[in-house]
Amino acid sequence: MVEPHPIRLHIDWTRCDGRGLCTELLADVLERDEWGYPIARPGTLPRGADASDIPIPAHLAAAAADAESLCPLLALRLRDVIGRP
Ligand code: SF4
Repeated sequence: MVEPHPIRLHIDWTRCDGRGLCTELLADVLERDEWGYPIARPGTLPRGADASDIPIPAHLAAAAADAESLCPLLALRLRDVIGRP
């Protein structure tokens, strides 16, 4: 069972160009699909979860913040459990 995490990383695939910077920064939770777009690694999403909201373990919070700020197309956004939009 996947433990709940207070932080989620939302991916807006309509903005993403699939070059994979975020998958390098967050290799433990993200991988690239066959077109290069970031997706959750198997086993990282809770059952029934939105595939575009990736749970981020606490030890990867800083890396997720880096990915959010470094994404060249502003396709990533961190959200927390209280529903930061
Ligand atoms: S860093 Fe941004 S543009 Fe690049 S693959 Fe990740 S989400 Fe897409």
